[in-house]
This record gives sequence, structure tokens and C-alpha cells, in this order.
Amino acid sequence: MKKVWVNFNHEPKAKNPTRIVSMPVQLTATQRQRLRELDRADLFLETVFHNAVERNKAFQEVEKKIAEENRQRLVELRKKNRRPALCQMEAKLVEALISEGFVQVVTPILLSKGLLEKMSITSTHPLIQQVFWVSLNKCLRPMLAPHLYFLLENLARLWEKPVRIFEVGPCFRKESRGSQHLNEFTMLNLVELGCPEYSRHKRLKELAQLVMTTAGIDQHELVTKFSEVYGETIDVVSDVEVGSCAMGPHILDAAWGIRDPWVGLGFGLERLLLVKKGYQNIQRAGRSLVYLDGARLNI
Ligand code: ATP
Ligand code: MG
Repeated sequence: MKKVWVNFNHEPKAKNPTRIVSMPVQLTATQRQRLRELDRADLFLETVFHNAVERNKAFQEVEKKIAEENRQRLVELRKKNRRPALCQMEAKLVEALISEGFVQVVTPILLSKGLLEKMSITSTHPLIQQVFWVSLNKCLRPMLAPHLYFLLENLARLWEKPVRIFEVGPCFRKESRGSQHLNEFTMLNLVELGCPEYSRHKRLKELAQLVMTTAGIDQHELVTKFSEVYGETIDVVSDVEVGSCAMGPHILDAAWGIRDPWVGLGFGLERLLLVKKGYQNIQRAGRSLVYLDGARLNI
């Protein structure tokens, strides 16, 4: 059928009802908004219905089905899972990394301006615009790397190499972009310091594979990309970027007293969940008062 485009915000009110019944239509703006709320904005995207009656019937049927699935998800959370998928994903990743010889660390969520500057994030750096300041010299960490660098400076001295550590926890960035960005998200950052320089690429590949397999995502590719912080990063991409990796020796290392080669990988847990669950909107995966474990509460 030929596509007909109609402005739904200004649908004409025909005097003769038989005429409107035969007018080809698409979803109304309200219906589209509702599907967006239900994270199914893809439905009926291009569909042209014969008339408004047919459209409304199809919409109501789909809306009812999605609402029922949503309710079912909440039942399952209470009866079966008892933990949101985000927490389960975190637990699985922690377990897998510990089994791989990594040591979990927990560092402060508040980060000093000085340590951010040591990461080269100063007033001229683009990321500085995304930082939430809580006082003149303290912010909510936008990344885990500064504190991990700080720990590594000491651990490189205290522990035999390779030193393997990771942290998983909240990070904060002011974001204006929509469906793949949150203002607060959960970062997993793992670092292996003291791996032989010649095997860094191989190691990075292995560790990316470990994280992706543990997250339950079958396919990914590694893509080299420019980074404001590291110059060059290798992104882990599964339709969307789920992680960014870097390697040392690196220009930032000197400031932290790091001399050994290293590989580091940073993943967003909500991004991993977005891909794994096939969500269209990352809000479903993150900390929320609107969604509980991906199920919408105000239905
Ligand atoms: P993007 O280019 O997608 O904005 P980024 O390259 O700025 O991400 P990194 O600094 O590489 O992000 O952070 C590592 C990972 O953390 C990203 O690959 C992504 O999975 C996740 N991440 C970063 N920013 C956000 C955000 N605002 N919301 C959710 N996840 C995020
Ligand atoms: Mg990145």
C-alpha cells in the first residue's frame, strides 16, 4: 500500500464521519508517545492504517499486550528473580573477574579536582562540562580511572606483577543525549598492570570477551576510536558502544608514577543490559523511580 503522510496533531474533523473512516492514517502523536513510554517506539513506525478505527483497534490490542507483559515482569521480579537484572549482572561480572585473578576495590564516589586534572581533565577538556561539582574542589566521579591509577601507583610497589584490579560502581555525567545515556550509570573498570607489552592486544581481546560472555552478549567487535582522555581507545561495540579500552605505556602514566605496560577496560553495565535485553531506552536498565527492573510502574 502507498504510504500517506498526515499531520496527526491537526487531524481534520470531517463533518461527514464516513469520510474520516476511509482516510488512511498513522499513529497519533499521543499513541506514539505511549509506545515510547512502553519502550516500543519501533512498533507501527511506518504502518498506514485504512482508517482511524482500524488504527485505534490495533494500537489498543498492542498496548494491552505490552501492559500485560509488563505486569508479568513485575510478578517475576517478586516471585522469582528478587534482584534487578542490573544487580545480577554486576554480581556475575564480579564473580567472573575474581575467578580470573582480579581483586575488587572500592574507592570514593567523590573525586577531587586535583585527581581529575591529573587525568588531563582540566577547564579546557570537553568532559569537564559534564562533571557534577558538589563543592569547589570535589565532584561526583565521571569515571573510575583516576582512583584506579592512584591505587595502582601503590600496588605496583606492594604487589608482585601482574597486578589485576577492578571496581564497579556509580559514575555521573551531565548528558543531554537521549536513549543511550544516563546522568548516573554503573561503570565497570578493570586494569591489568604488568602484562608483557607484546601481548597487550591479545589480553585486551580476551578480557573483553570474558566480560561480554559473562554479560550474556553473543556478538561484539573491537573498533579503534579517538578519545578525549586517552588519545586512542578500542571500543567494544555490539550495535552500540558498551565499553572503551586503553593500553599503556601511556602519556598519562608518568603523572601517576606508572612504568609498566597495562591494559584497561571500562564498561557501562546499563549499556550491557540495554544490548542483552534488547531495550530501546537505557532508562529501563538504570537506577529509576519510573522503572523497576525494566518494568514500568505507572501503567
Ligand atoms: P559515549 O561515546 O557513548 O558517550 P564515552 O566514550 O563517553 O561514551 P567512556 O568514557 O568510554 O564513554 O565510558 C566507558 C563506558 O561507560 C562506555 O562505553 C559506556 O558503556 C558507559 N557510559 C559512558 N557514559 C555513559 C552514560 N552517560 N550513560 C550510560 N553509560 C555510559
Ligand atoms: Mg568510550
